[in-house]
Amino acid sequence: MRKQIAAANWKMNKTIDEGIALIKEIIHSDIKLQQGSEVLFAVPYPYLSSIKELISGKENMFIAAQNCHHKKNGAYTGEVSVEMLNSLGIKHCLVGHSERREYFAESNQVIAQKVDLCLETGITPVFCCGEPLEIRDLSSQNQYVTTQLNESLFHLSADDIKKVVIAYEPIWAIGTGRTASSEQAQEMHAHIRSVLDSTYGSAVASEISILYGGSVKGANANELFSMQDVDGGLVGGASLVASEFVQIINSLKK
Ligand code: PEP
Repeated sequence: MRKQIAAANWKMNKTIDEGIALIKEIIHSDIKLQQGSEVLFAVPYPYLSSIKELISGKENMFIAAQNCHHKKNGAYTGEVSVEMLNSLGIKHCLVGHSERREYFAESNQVIAQKVDLCLETGITPVFCCGEPLEIRDLSSQNQYVTTQLNESLFHLSADDIKKVVIAYEPIWAIGTGRTASSEQAQEMHAHIRSVLDSTYGSAVASEISILYGGSVKGANANELFSMQDVDGGLVGGASLVASEFVQIINSLKK
């Protein structure tokens, strides 16, 4: 079975003390993680090392960065490179989150550069894609997401694309409390897998984990994750509450 993944995205939330308390509460909870399932915590940059320390020895739990810069190094004040992340032992990084695309004008081309740098450095990119509401209203979401995949991922070799985790996050469902129905999620995930299949073949397509993101909560995770092509979730708001995130982890497919 493909890797099932529960990924927390803390965004710009929590002080270090609050973050430490949250992680401690989660790891001391009754977590039932199957072999081959993973938990990621995408925490703010300043907390990467200290929070990584707290989960050391926890098999299948990893700290992720929420972003990286698209250039290797140089005069980019305030930015963080994949080399820096790697030097801290960080092996996962969100790339192309819709908030980065919207507020920091990240294009598909810039995101492609980030994906390449992550892979060159041995970091797993968690590639985020998804359509805004006006595209969904026009029923053009499949085409929209296909373009995102084409322009940011499909230059990769079959060996490299297998190292990418894809997160489908319809923008109209992020932080809005309006979740895609499990049918809407499955429909898009099946579409993404079929595009992967026609580009790379079914063996490759069936290996790639596709996460759903957009108002996942303890109460709806089970139903969403039970869908055939939904391999877990990328979770914002609900990942900030230990009991919610633990319920989400425990909803991963067994
Ligand atoms: C996200 O930030 O990726 C996200 C899906 O947020 P939320 O779960 O709050 O909708």
